[in-house]
This record gives sequence, structure tokens and C-alpha cells, in this order.
Amino acid sequence: MKTKIINTPDLLKAASRKKEVTNFCVANAKHLKDLKPLAKGKKYYIRTYGCQANVRDEETMRAMLEDVGYSFSKEVENVDVIIINTCAVRENAEDKVYGEIGNLKRLRKKNKNLILAICGCMVEQPEILKRLMDTFPEVNLFFGTHEIAQLLDLIYDCYSSNERIVAIESKQGEVVEFIPDCRNNHYKAYVNIIYGCNKFCTYCIVPYTRGKERSRHFNDVIKECQRLIDAGYQEITLLGQNVNAYGKDLDEGKDFADLLEAVAKLGIPRLRFTTSHPWDFSSKMIDVIAKYPNIMKFIHLPVQSGNDEILRKMGRRYTREQYLNLVKEMREKIPGLSLSTDIIVGFPNENEEQFQDTCSLVDIVQYEAAFTFIYSPRKGTPAAKMEDNVSKETKTRRFQELVKHLEKHIEEYSNAMVGNTYDVLVDGVSKTDENMLSGYTETNKLVHFKGDLSLVGTIVKVKIKESHTYSLIGELVNG
Ligand code: SF4
Repeated sequence: MKTKIINTPDLLKAASRKKEVTNFCVANAKHLKDLKPLAKGKKYYIRTYGCQANVRDEETMRAMLEDVGYSFSKEVENVDVIIINTCAVRENAEDKVYGEIGNLKRLRKKNKNLILAICGCMVEQPEILKRLMDTFPEVNLFFGTHEIAQLLDLIYDCYSSNERIVAIESKQGEVVEFIPDCRNNHYKAYVNIIYGCNKFCTYCIVPYTRGKERSRHFNDVIKECQRLIDAGYQEITLLGQNVNAYGKDLDEGKDFADLLEAVAKLGIPRLRFTTSHPWDFSSKMIDVIAKYPNIMKFIHLPVQSGNDEILRKMGRRYTREQYLNLVKEMREKIPGLSLSTDIIVGFPNENEEQFQDTCSLVDIVQYEAAFTFIYSPRKGTPAAKMEDNVSKETKTRRFQELVKHLEKHIEEYSNAMVGNTYDVLVDGVSKTDENMLSGYTETNKLVHFKGDLSLVGTIVKVKIKESHTYSLIGELVNG
């Protein structure tokens, strides 16, 4: 099969940040009419790895495919289009993708017309793209995060040219409004407010794969939230790599605090946001969170390290003291606040003293939840070029020690919830016990309890009976 290269990724270009005005447009496929008869009666399967941004990208692709006539299949067998939506943030997510494609290539042997596509952050990196192209000749479409709006035209090209297509442009990116819309969940929704990232933390590949920070128009976000509320949604999560930077690139005179307040005033029962960079977190935002009861008192505030030298090498733009002052202000102004974080263990050359600074910060903040990772180098980032003298064994030992510190505080928090009653948004049947339902409290604690399936998508009162480190067992409170 011949390969048609429309664009290939270029990390240098991806790292440039020119003062260009953001281009706003509406997704508009050129071959919509031509594709409709080809898509009629056909099925697609989509598998997403990684963060909430990827989950939202999946929903966007689903909306486009369904609009043209494809129907969704939960099973990968006997479909006509397969899309693997990848993540490049950590090595193990990448390894899973290699394994999955290895399993799927047999389907292309069975069906020569199958479109087997790989998209997302992995293919935005030249070396990974080359490896995927060389290893899997069965994959006939590669497209990047900036080409999602062109998905239908790319599929049409695959049908009409019978060529393998590569369309991955490294660029600043635009803001594309997608009409129609599709949601995987009917009571909880993600709403993109800002795309891309300008922070360039030295270990992170995201600013290269997702382009510059570019905010959606204030009114477009408000209209989307209003539509969700009108449709009965119970929870909205405002989404961005760094939501706190919202509005800085617009001339609308609005920042993230203004947007958060405006959405809260629309009256959605639960409002969340993720992710927040501590550097951009203002007192004005804290005041808005404190003021509105429907803004959940749960903030994910990645710290990554508790040591100033490591934070400097990571390019995080704040010191330990600044981070702790921010936490202090949050805890003082927001009663009942629950904080979660991300921590990287084993950044190149991290010594014992620097690691202990992270443990001591954990003991000061007393997080209610956390995601911990052993550092994994991402090719193309500055940190990947740093020589590392810390052994794998030491990193693993430190990781286990850090988890003990975190779990002590998480357990104390969970234990203190026993006997109290909380509002829980019911998600569905519990993944650990099919006789139970599960859902999340306002502070994002997972609760399992007995109840009728009709409660899914509603907010109920649950009294906590038993605590485990990462979940709680409760009892439905009548009325
Ligand atoms: S803020 Fe840092 S860690 Fe987060 S996406 Fe941007 S570069 Fe990556």
C-alpha cells in the first residue's frame, strides 16, 4: 500500500510559541455528502487511553462519525472503522497501545476495507510515529490531535485513494467548535474551556502534542453548559491542561474565576474543574470556589515534588513555600476542602534529602487523594536528556515510602467520614460488587452502597458505615 504523507510531526515546530491570534472555526467536512452513503449501516469502534482531554476528544470523534451514519460498537470484531486514541504521558500507556494494535492487525487481514487508525498524543512524536508505521503496516490512518476536525475527510480519503494516510501537523492549533455533540455519559459532562499548554514542564510532552494555550470564547462555554443543564446534567467538569490560564489569550476581559462564577450561577448541581497549575491559581479563584455551594470543594493541585531544586529542574515555576502558602489560603477560605495531587518520584538525580522534602510536604498538606508516578523519560523533552544516577531499586523504594505517607492521610480522612451522611451522585453498578451501586461524594470519594438502578444519575444521601483507603461503604438514607 502506498503512503500519502499530508504532514508529519516536528517537535521543534511544536515547541514554538508565536504571538499569533487564535483562529476560531467550526468543524466543516468537505466530503460529508460523499461519505454518507459509504458510512450508511457501518460500525465503528474507538478505544481511548489517557486523560480527560482524550476522553472528550473521543466524544467529539463519536459525534462526527455518528452524524455521518456510522453506529458505535462495543465490540471490535466486525466493525468498519477502528480508532485507537493514544496517550504519551507515560511509558506504560504507550506499551498498552503497542499490545492492542498487535492484536488488532489480524482484523485488517480479514477485512481489507477496514480503516485502522491511530490518533492522539503518541503519533505526534516523530520517533514513535516511525516505529508505529514500521511495525504495523496494517494501520492505514495516522492523525494528530490537531486533525480531529478533519477526521471525516481523512476517512473519505482512505476509502477513495486506498492509500495509507499520515496527517499530523505540529502547530499552535486553533479553537474548533464541533457541531453536533455526543456524550458518553448522560448526567456527567466534560466541557473544554482551554486547549494546549504553554508551561513546558521539562518532563512533559503535552505542550508539544497539544499546541499553545488557546481559550474558547466565554459565551461558547456558557452556551454549552446551559445546553447540558437543560438536558438534565447533574455535573459539569470544566476541562483544560491548565484551566487557570483560561482567558489570558483572549481580549474578552474574563479570567477563569469569572468563567467559574458564571457557570456556577447557571445552577448546575455540581461544578468541577481540572487541571490547575499552582502558578496560575489566584486568590480571586479561591474566593469564587468558597462562595458557591455548587462548586465542589475538591481541588486537584499537582505539586510533583516538595523540593525547590527539583521543582526548578522540572520547570514548575513555584517554590515549596509558594505552594504551601497557596494551600494554606485555600484551606483557610474553603471549609471542608479536599485536595488531591500528582507526584513524580525519581526525577533525574533526585537525592534522598530532596525526596524526603516531598514526604514532609505530603505530611504538611495531608492530601485527601493522590496520583503518584515513577518518572518515565519522554523523548523530545529536556528532562529526557538529563543523565540519571538514581537506580531503579532506589526509585521503587522511594515510591513505596511515599505511598505510605500518602495513604496514612487518606485513611485518616476516610475514617473521619464514617458515621456522617454525604450527597452522592450515583454512577451505576459498582465495579467491585454487582449487588451494589457506586458514586462519588462532593469531595470525590468513591462510595459503594445498596440501591435501585433507577437511582443512577441522581444525587442521593448516603450514610458512611465503613471506610477503606480508596473507597467507602455506605447505606442509602431514606428521603
Ligand atoms: S502544566 Fe506542565 S505537566 Fe501540565 S500539561 Fe503543561 S507542561 Fe505538562
